[in-house]
Amino acid sequence: MWFDIKAEIKDRIAITDASDSVTYKELYNEATTIAHFLLEKFNTNHLEEIKIAFLVNPSIQYVAIEWGIWLAGGVAVPLCNTHPISEINYVLEDANCQLLLSEELFQDVLKEAIIKPVYLKSITIEETHLLPLIQPEQRALIIYTSGTTGKPKGVVSTHQNIESQIKTLVKAWEWTATDKILHILPLHHIHGIINALCCALYVGAEVHFLSKFEANKVWDWWQKKDFTIFMAVPTVYSRLITEWENSPQDVQQNMTAACKKMRLMISGSAALPVSILERWEVISGHFLLERYGMSEIGMAISNPLHGKRKAGFIGLPLPNVDVRLVNEQNNIVNQGDIGEIQVKGDNVFLEYWNKKQATLESFTEDGWFKTGDTAIQDEEGYFKILGRTSIDIIKTGGYKVSAIEIEETLRLHPSIKDCAVVGIADEEWGEKVSVCLILHENQDLSLENLRIWAKTQIAHYKIPTQIKILTELPRNAMGKVIKPELKKLFLL
Ligand code: AMP
Repeated sequence: MWFDIKAEIKDRIAITDASDSVTYKELYNEATTIAHFLLEKFNTNHLEEIKIAFLVNPSIQYVAIEWGIWLAGGVAVPLCNTHPISEINYVLEDANCQLLLSEELFQDVLKEAIIKPVYLKSITIEETHLLPLIQPEQRALIIYTSGTTGKPKGVVSTHQNIESQIKTLVKAWEWTATDKILHILPLHHIHGIINALCCALYVGAEVHFLSKFEANKVWDWWQKKDFTIFMAVPTVYSRLITEWENSPQDVQQNMTAACKKMRLMISGSAALPVSILERWEVISGHFLLERYGMSEIGMAISNPLHGKRKAGFIGLPLPNVDVRLVNEQNNIVNQGDIGEIQVKGDNVFLEYWNKKQATLESFTEDGWFKTGDTAIQDEEGYFKILGRTSIDIIKTGGYKVSAIEIEETLRLHPSIKDCAVVGIADEEWGEKVSVCLILHENQDLSLENLRIWAKTQIAHYKIPTQIKILTELPRNAMGKVIKPELKKLFLL
C-alpha cells in the first residue's frame, strides 16, 4: 500500500515532536501495535472500514494511530483538537464511529463524549495478528468540511484518492527524502494531513511538529534547524509578518536568513491577499507559491514550482488533475469569462458520508465534481479565484461581483488592516455589498470616507454600502473567515 515503508528510508528520522524523535521503522512499529490493538478490540482480522475517531495533538502518536487504523483496514476519522464537545459529538455520531482514541490531556473535553474514549496509555496487546490486505478502493479517511457555509459533511476518501493526491504534489513540488518540514497545521484538515504530512512521509522526509502554531516558536525553529519547506494559510503568514516586524533589527536579519535557506514556501486554503504576498517576499525572499484545493479533491490548481508565479492567481492545473470552468448551463466558458471550477481525476473523493443526495448533487452527469468555487482564467491559462459561489459571489443591482476582489482592493486603504465582504439580502439591490473592517491602530473610517476613496479604485456597484468596524474577524480552526457569522451582524 502507499503507506508501506520503503527499505531505503526505514532508518531516516520520520517525526520529531515536543518529546521525542522516531525513525520510519520505529514509527511503523508503533503503528503496528495500534493495528494489533484494534484487531484485537474488534475481534477480527480486518476492520472492514470500521470508523475510528481519534483526538490527539500533532505528534508521533497521531501518525501511529492514523497508520495503525489503515494497517488494520479501518477508516481514520481525525478530530479537531480545538473543537468543543458539541462539534466532536456531531462527528462521532455523523460518521458512526465505533471507537474513540485519545490522550489524557483531552479528558476534560471528552467527559461528555457520546463514545467513552480509550486513552493511549491504556493500550496493550496480548497477541499479534496477521495484518490484513488493504485494497486501494477501500475507504480510508473521513474529514469534515470546514462548515463555513453549512453543516459539516464527512468527506470520504479512499486509499487510491489519497495516493493520487500525494503523488500529484510530490511531483509538482518535487518532494524528496532530504526535505524537512516544520509542520504547524491542524491535523483534522486536508492541508495538514495530505499536503504537509502524508507527502513528507511518502517520500521519507522529516516532519517536525509544533503542536500548535505560535509565531515566535516558528521563527525560533527556523533559525535552529535546517528546514527546506513550509506550508501555511494566509493568516499564519500575517502573524509571522507581525512577529518579524516587532523584532529587533539584528534578530530580523537572522530570521530572514533562516527563511532564505528554505527551498519552498506555500500558501493556500484561503485567498492570499497580495499585500501579504508582497510583504512576505521582502521579509523572507520567497514569492509564496499559492495553490488551490479542497477536502473533496486534494489539490487541483497550483502556481508552478519553477515557472512564473502570479500574485492574486492560484495557478495552473496540477499533474493528473483535470480542471474546467463551466457556466450555469454546464458548458465550458470562453476564455476570460467567469465559471465554476469543476474537477475530475483519481484525486476526487468517493462520497459524502451517509449523504447520497448531497454526493449526487455535487457531481455532473459526466462525472465532474462541482467545487462550488467561481474563477476566471487569464490569457496564459492561470486561474484567479473569485470565491465560493454561494457566499462570495454577490448579486447586486444586476451585477455579479466577487467579494475576494473587493477585499483585495479595500486592503489598499491606509486605515484598513483586514476586511471581509458579504452580500446582505435587500429588496432594491438583490444584495447589498457590505464589509466588516479591521482598522489599523488608532484609525477611524466612516462609510462616507470609505466610499469617497473607493470611487477612485473600483466600479461604483462594487463599493460597499454598509460597514461594520470589528476588532477581529471570526475564523475557524483553519483561519478561514466564517462569513455567515458576519452576515448575521448586518441583520441584527
Ligand atoms: P477546505 O475543504 O476546508 O480546504 O476548503 C476548500 C475551500 O477553500 C475551496 O473550495 C475554496 O473556496 C477555498 N480555497 C482553497 N484554496 C484557496 C485559495 N488559494 N484561494 C482562495 N480560496 C481557496
